Amino acid sequence: MKGVSYEGVGKIVVKDDLPMPSVKPEEALIKVKYCGICGSDVESFKKAGMYGSGIIIGHEISGEIIEIGDNVKKLKIGDLITINPNVPCYNCYWCNQNQENKCKFAPRAIGTLSDGAMAEFFSVNEERIHILPDSISLEEGAMIEPLAVGIYAVQESGIKIGENVAVFGTGTIGLITILALKLAGAGNIYALEPVESKHKIALEMGAAKTFTPQNWKKVQKLCDKIGPTYIFDCVGISETITSAINLVRKGGHITLIGMDPEITDLKNFYGIAVKNVTLRGIYAYNQDTFKTVINLLEQKRVNIKPLITKIIKLDEVPSAFEDIAKGLHDDIKIMVKIE
Ligand SMILES: [Zn+2]
Ligand SMILES: [Zn+2]
Repeated sequence: MKGVSYEGVGKIVVKDDLPMPSVKPEEALIKVKYCGICGSDVESFKKAGMYGSGIIIGHEISGEIIEIGDNVKKLKIGDLITINPNVPCYNCYWCNQNQENKCKFAPRAIGTLSDGAMAEFFSVNEERIHILPDSISLEEGAMIEPLAVGIYAVQESGIKIGENVAVFGTGTIGLITILALKLAGAGNIYALEPVESKHKIALEMGAAKTFTPQNWKKVQKLCDKIGPTYIFDCVGISETITSAINLVRKGGHITLIGMDPEITDLKNFYGIAVKNVTLRGIYAYNQDTFKTVINLLEQKRVNIKPLITKIIKLDEVPSAFEDIAKGLHDDIKIMVKIE
């Protein structure tokens, strides 16, 4: 079968002689329909560390079940599905409390350390599969995983109706965070993004105003001159975290959604104490988040389609990675259609 293999930094290769995945008794075989290119796929293309060499990438997917193992109970052939790609141990203190994202054994994410789904076929344990209702399209289905990231972060932040917010970064996760904040009843949402061509879509998603990050003082002024109560950092580099600490109001809250693992030069960490700031990190989501997202899409409470800005074929994936890594694009989510 055909699939996209990660062969190390700068090396993404389409192979057409990959073996068909085997199907264990508790697994289902999926004919993949769509698979999104994720920011972490691109980060691993740029620098080593996160992904195993020789694995098939892809964890934001939709597809159709074409075969089921003997012990599969909840699924049938023909079901349209998406997956939760983080595989927990199912057995630790946290897993027993439905908090898989805190699993004692760091979840072995599909498409990073084990074979993923940017391929014609893919097999996975039925526990990871979520069925798509008829009203959710296959394109939307492949957006459920990134939606889960933003929805979970906003749920966990504790934001209340009417509170003003700043969001650093308007890539896919930043824009989804803005969508989730609208749903949660946030007050004015201010987006800070260096690429000005991305400002328009941030406004479409619900931002009140957009600024480049250097202009964070303007946001402070707009929020009673003392800054927003909540900040979501969807970039996670030292510059944005430093700006967030400067910008947030005293007693405010900063939520870090993903971050650069190599940050060593935070400038004003002391500000966290002096300003009585609550800083919290967010990792991934839980099974319940997927149920929430599917429900929101089914009820037409979120419109995710404007974020899918390009659909490409498997053969076009390597050149798409080259372009993204060089910054030669204005796309938000690039999705691979697999036929
Ligand atoms: Zn992702
Ligand atoms: Zn566990």
